[in-house]
Amino acid sequence: MTPVLPVTLPILADETVTSFTSRLAAENGSPCVTDFCRDIGLDWNGIINGKSDALAALARFSGMALDTLQANSIQLVKQGNYLVRSQEVNRALLCRTRVRVCPECIEGDLRDRGRYGSARRASWQLNTIRNCEYHGIPLVELPREKYSADSYDFCVLVDRHIDFVRSQGIPNAPRTNSRLERYIVGRLNNVRKYRWLDHRPLYVVARTCEMLGVLLLFGKAVKVSECSEHQLWEAGEVGFDALTKGPNGLIDSLQNFRRADEDGGSSFGADLGPFYRWLTVVSGQPAYAPVADIVSRYVFENYPVQKGGEILGRTCKERLLYPRDLAGRHLRLKPHIFELALRELEFGSTNAETGKLEFPRYIASHDLPRIKSEAKNLVLECRAREILRVTERMFHGLVRERLITPQGRLSEQQSAVFREGDYRTPGRSSNGKLGG
Ligand SMILES: [Zn+2]
Repeated sequence: MTPVLPVTLPILADETVTSFTSRLAAENGSPCVTDFCRDIGLDWNGIINGKSDALAALARFSGMALDTLQANSIQLVKQGNYLVRSQEVNRALLCRTRVRVCPECIEGDLRDRGRYGSARRASWQLNTIRNCEYHGIPLVELPREKYSADSYDFCVLVDRHIDFVRSQGIPNAPRTNSRLERYIVGRLNNVRKYRWLDHRPLYVVARTCEMLGVLLLFGKAVKVSECSEHQLWEAGEVGFDALTKGPNGLIDSLQNFRRADEDGGSSFGADLGPFYRWLTVVSGQPAYAPVADIVSRYVFENYPVQKGGEILGRTCKERLLYPRDLAGRHLRLKPHIFELALRELEFGSTNAETGKLEFPRYIASHDLPRIKSEAKNLVLECRAREILRVTERMFHGLVRERLITPQGRLSEQQSAVFREGDYRTPGRSSNGKLGG
């Protein structure tokens, strides 16, 4: 295609179309890209939003192939959602008027192409990218422009703020790029590596990694709004490590926050802190459904949610867990019989510090029938005497002779408990009376 403009230049491989237009304007002697577009009849807002007509006109003027311009554009697909190099990005991930640059890349651009040679890389427009993919140093944010349209006149902005960029200095000890950053840049270049993550839109991956990482790294009490950019960068790395293992990595991470002890009214909301609070806000969006599905299922399986209860918009179809006391009441068992049944079925475990037997906080619904059946076999001493039709003295004689054995005594004050099979055994006749 023969270009219309007197001066033309090629768009760089990872440069955005607005940055290219900004350079084109400057190289053709225009002090401002908005004026340049208006003067020659280009739709600057259309170019900013990646509209086909606007890009087609830009192709005619610049001589660049339309498909190249389309590939490098940031295209508004619906309110708040964009495509960046074919990847879905939302407003939370995309920084449009917040302009960040790599000081090293900029110096290289100016060396190679002169005063207006700096180019905005697509990856710099994603909030989760906080380091340069080439130099591994933190991106520097330029001072904000009064009018947001001016934020896209990239090479002019850099020229205006180059002293500011240089004054930020290049850190002596650059931090390396996080794995999450490398993954996102890879996705922009169509590299796919982790099946579960690869199937999620880029903005879902970025935010889920960061929010899970905030919980994993800083705990359940932290507020995301109080996290610094550096903390979010660290969190993204930790969350990404977990989520590369897919749903199991997510569930294993959440398990770390499930409290085994009983004090202090803990709940899934408190246990999962910032991650859960964030998820309640986004779980209605279809793109987050796979994450919300996994987390709601995890909550149903690990917390005593009632049938019909709603978690992240998902309904609990069947109660899977009961708090221990409620399980006993549900089975209509006296507390001591219920606990003894748990002990007989080996639900308890000995606390290493206190040496005391402790029972689980929650009882699974599928365990209730066997607890009920076990409890049916257990009776208190007075009931055992009644069944055997013996006096208290005779009964204790039988115990002393070990003809019948108590199954246990829950405390000093409580009566001993016997298992039905055991006290029916010793020489008992079919008419219910003791023989011999
Ligand atoms: Zn760089």
